[in-house]
Amino acid sequence: MSTTTTLTTIHHFINGAETTGEGDRTQPVYNPATGQVSAELRLANEADLNTTVDAAKKAAESWGDISLAKRTAVLFKFRELVAAHVDDLAELITAEHGKVLSDAKGEIGRGLEVIEFACGIPQLLKGDYSDQVSTGIDVFSFREPLGVVAGITPFNFPVMVPLWMAPMAIATGNAFILKPSERDPSAPMLLAKLWKQAGLPDGVFQVLHGGKETVDGLLSHPDVDGISFVGSTPIAQYVHETATKHGKRVQALGGAKNHAIVMPDADLDNAADHLAAAAFGSAGERCMAISVAVAVGDAADLIVKKVEERALAVKVKNGTEPDAEMGPVITPASKERIVKIVTEAETAGAAMVVDGRDLVVPGHEDGFWVGPTVIDHVRTEMTAYTEEIFGPVLVVVRVADLEEGIALINSNPYGNGTAIFTSSGANARKFQRSVTVGMVGINVPLPVPVAYHSFGGWKNSLFGDKHIYGPEGVSFYTRGKVITSRWPEPTHASGASYNFPSN
Ligand code: NAD
Repeated sequence: MSTTTTLTTIHHFINGAETTGEGDRTQPVYNPATGQVSAELRLANEADLNTTVDAAKKAAESWGDISLAKRTAVLFKFRELVAAHVDDLAELITAEHGKVLSDAKGEIGRGLEVIEFACGIPQLLKGDYSDQVSTGIDVFSFREPLGVVAGITPFNFPVMVPLWMAPMAIATGNAFILKPSERDPSAPMLLAKLWKQAGLPDGVFQVLHGGKETVDGLLSHPDVDGISFVGSTPIAQYVHETATKHGKRVQALGGAKNHAIVMPDADLDNAADHLAAAAFGSAGERCMAISVAVAVGDAADLIVKKVEERALAVKVKNGTEPDAEMGPVITPASKERIVKIVTEAETAGAAMVVDGRDLVVPGHEDGFWVGPTVIDHVRTEMTAYTEEIFGPVLVVVRVADLEEGIALINSNPYGNGTAIFTSSGANARKFQRSVTVGMVGINVPLPVPVAYHSFGGWKNSLFGDKHIYGPEGVSFYTRGKVITSRWPEPTHASGASYNFPSN
């Protein structure tokens, strides 16, 4: 007897409904833990893009004009719905991304924080008022939505990164088009359904699937006013250049190579726990993952030993297993790239402390597995140091003192996150003041700012000047208007003055 399995098709979400669209191309979506195709994803064509932008433009006109009270009512409802669907969203994330369920729930939690921040939008949009700046003249300012904004997001946080953008864009009165990663598009589709259930008018939040062609269409479409991008550095730079050339406001967050300095005065057991979690959690596929341990002086041998013990103990399994601590990487190509870089480091003379290249997970032989890997004595010319590996690999670079560690970090082209492990306030303060990195942790390995601060790196980790979510998110999705107002007394007549107005 033969059995035929019908593949699920993942559609777009356009103008309030799931839509096949006109584009006839599809792309497979995989479960990285089993290596099996789980669905086919519809890819947009130009007509689909135009339909989506047209719907967004129309929706933005009324949504931007709606009262703050009505907008916040939708946001509060959406917050409740996301909270009620954490398990459903997490299952979708794990099935297509591979991260373990507890970690998937963690990313939803960070996304919820942004929705909660956006619920306070009336306070955030309060303008300024100056009374009587000149006789009979008042000046006041407020911010208005941009109109239509698009968010282009990476595979590694299919819920959190869209939620870094959409609640802020929508709360500030814009219509938002999400172009999620093609690798894990199902959780973003559930977000679309929850927005609709929350009472968001059709066209204010839409999901359009596609690759480069769709992104290019959004970057150049005359009715798209702003672009938020999160992904790898080469694409972030391309998106920033292309969209600014088309006159759009852009924030484009890129890749990373995050260093953590370990001082000899640190609590080394605590540092090792955090380093292992920050390097191997989510299989190292986090833009804030610690991928370089900078071991200072006498700390080196001790910290390497302690991290080795922890790396060997990580439970690598299908993320659906209750005790799984780490899942697979996203694609066979990603695995191949990671293994290649590790092999290059070994060939160039680095010391393999823990080698995850040949990991096989019983029962999941076709999954895309790489085990936790620790490489010591890595030098800065090796690809293991120069490339963003984006896998469960921690490289150790040994330095003599704090100054050398800081100089190493500051000469790196990326500047997303960094951390120091120390028990010295003086060391910590010197570090926080002199590193050229946007987000700094003091005994905190993943210093992802809470929702009421903004998230963003420096150097090749961010193109554009506005960080994402928080107060800078409000600023990014709005533009300021300043009104200078005079209401003359009915009897007053001063005659025309041809000088430039002054006080
Ligand atoms: P990616 O750059 O390959 O893809 C990101 C998005 O860009 C996707 O939606 C994809 O469809 C689109 N895209 C891919 N190639 C394109 C092209 N040639 N032209 C136009 N669009 C294109 O990134 P990824 O592999 O999905 O995600 C991992 C990367 O994202 C890592 O580099 C990671 O550091 C980075 N990241 C950064 C942050 C941050 O906040 N700085 C957060 C998460 C992830």
